[in-house]
Amino acid sequence: MCYQKLLQCDFLSEEKKKEISYYLDRMTQNSIFTLSQFIFDNKLDRDLSKKLLTWLCTNNILKRGYAVRCPNCGHMIELIDDINNTKDTIFCVNCSQDVELTSEDIVIIYMLNSPPFVDGQWVETYFKTLEQLQPAVPKEDTLKELLDSGQANELFYSPSQQEYLELQRLYNDIFVADSTKEKGDTLEDLVRYLFNLCIHFKANSIKIGNNQIDCYSRNQLCVPGTNIEPSDYDIISECKNENKKPGITYLEKLHSILIQSNRKNGIIFSKKEAPSTYLSTARELYLQDKILIISIDGNDLDKISNHKYNFLECIARKQAEIILNAKSNLVNQGLYSA
Ligand SMILES: [Zn+2]
Repeated sequence: MCYQKLLQCDFLSEEKKKEISYYLDRMTQNSIFTLSQFIFDNKLDRDLSKKLLTWLCTNNILKRGYAVRCPNCGHMIELIDDINNTKDTIFCVNCSQDVELTSEDIVIIYMLNSPPFVDGQWVETYFKTLEQLQPAVPKEDTLKELLDSGQANELFYSPSQQEYLELQRLYNDIFVADSTKEKGDTLEDLVRYLFNLCIHFKANSIKIGNNQIDCYSRNQLCVPGTNIEPSDYDIISECKNENKKPGITYLEKLHSILIQSNRKNGIIFSKKEAPSTYLSTARELYLQDKILIISIDGNDLDKISNHKYNFLECIARKQAEIILNAKSNLVNQGLYSA
């Protein structure tokens, strides 16, 4: 059943495809497993397993769930199907009290993505099978490990083949549209589409004060136990579709919009590369009030749309360059992959 789909996977040997397909075909609607279980069952190495599980989820063969475990007694309290719905405290029936959660108490589980139920019903069906995860859960199966290991960008942004085709279409539109107005809109369309591909962002164009914002991306993810406001990760983006380098004035204008709206992250998207003074100016603004504004240009968008570079990794790397005042290429140094 899964074999036909697995044939499209380009990083697995033929033999492994058969084995994995056999493994998945034996699963029932009630089967759940974790990363460490998957590694053990299939004798695959850790990195390959992570990559494969992400691929299987992106291609709708598996889906992820998040099991909330009581930090006091180990009882599996709840199963969440949307990572944006995690919370800081929860009531444990076993302990008869509210317990505070951290990302170590969220266990990432996998199951087949073909239940014959309507949405929401699967939670009850899988609830009993959760008991098999008790009481000790290996650290590597928790949300904390996933966030710490730097793999979160792949979890939050992993477009399907279909979505990549749409990305390429939107990217091409930027360069073939006729009028200036049309060109402006095409870049906005691509940027909004990119943010909406990230499972923790909702993005749209909005008006803030007197300014029409090309793309406001609201972060919905709240990582329990961190005391970080989800809105600290919101991003305000401006799109500059001109055939010249985006001026430093754009940077200053976006900076004042961010101050006015009490937000910390901005991106200037442009067709052409930002001027060489851009980084030092962005760094000054960051030191001044911890506001980070990065620049993503046509070259970056080509890598993201046509060569499958990870969009979130690209954002994280560019933010790190400003914070660190990096003089080395962080990709070449192996610190970032995009
Ligand atoms: Zn408990």
